[in-house]
Amino acid sequence: MTSHVTGRLSGRVAVVTGGAREIGFGIASRFAAEGAKVVLAQRSKSEGAAAQAQIRAAGGEATAISCDVTLEDSVAEMVNRVVSLYGTVDIMVNNAGVGGAEKITDLDWAEYQRVFNTNVGGVLLGTKYVARAMQAAGKGGSIINISSIQGVLPLIDSAVYAGSKGAVNLITQQTAADLGPFGIRVNAIAPGYIDNEMMHGYHDLISKTPGSAIDTARRSIVLGRLGQTEDIAGPALFFASDDSAYVTGTVLLVDGGSQCHGAVG
Ligand code: NDP
Repeated sequence: MTSHVTGRLSGRVAVVTGGAREIGFGIASRFAAEGAKVVLAQRSKSEGAAAQAQIRAAGGEATAISCDVTLEDSVAEMVNRVVSLYGTVDIMVNNAGVGGAEKITDLDWAEYQRVFNTNVGGVLLGTKYVARAMQAAGKGGSIINISSIQGVLPLIDSAVYAGSKGAVNLITQQTAADLGPFGIRVNAIAPGYIDNEMMHGYHDLISKTPGSAIDTARRSIVLGRLGQTEDIAGPALFFASDDSAYVTGTVLLVDGGSQCHGAVG
């Protein structure tokens, strides 16, 4: 785990949905190392407990709360628990997401509902309840949505996932406009190819030869390497901290420059 004890988020309360694993865990552990009280919100109790223990072992403050971002009552209850525990929410990272790939002619309606309910519904519900808590506290806040390069440059066989992330980008801009008057900033990070199971799973689905599609994708990255979860934590810290006090409604591509060549699939 990265250790940066500079306290740029000292005393702030940050919720990270899907914070127990991969990109979410990278963000949560970086925020904790910067002094934030971090809440890890995902469905798995065991992964939440393990991630909480890992952050605490590194000297950070973390609490795992089980939450399903597709269920309104579950999101409302999670935010209520955070407010009871810490009094407020200063930072929300709507990171929980699911991927997949299929040809449009094979569109599976249950899969569409799973992806949209999580990637789009989760962002809407997380924003609704956290923005209410932030408005009640009257101190403003920062909401960070984890989108994808696919929301800007769709890859092949990806109508559902790319469509969900395109929606996240527009929701980011729209809610930034709604919430700006309350001092609540809303920005999105659009990761490129992050070297983990979700990304390899997608590329194996679209490729007849496991590994071959990702080799093609790798060639599009001008910085010459796949991204790591730590590559997303730094930009998230920027949006969470006062360094971005005058930034709202933006979608930041964090993709090693793969957009310079256009999408490869
Ligand atoms: P992972 O699959 O490794 O982690 C996803 C996290 O989201 C898990 O903690 C999972 O926990 C949680 N989650 C999934 N569904 C729900 C739900 N209904 N309610 C609450 N939590 C949920 O994915 P990554 O870390 O790779 O991805 C994180 C984000 O980054 C996603 O939004 C993804 O779309 C985006 N992204 C990823 C890229 C990549 O290359 N990996 C590239 C671009 C964007 P649990 O199952 O316990 O609920």
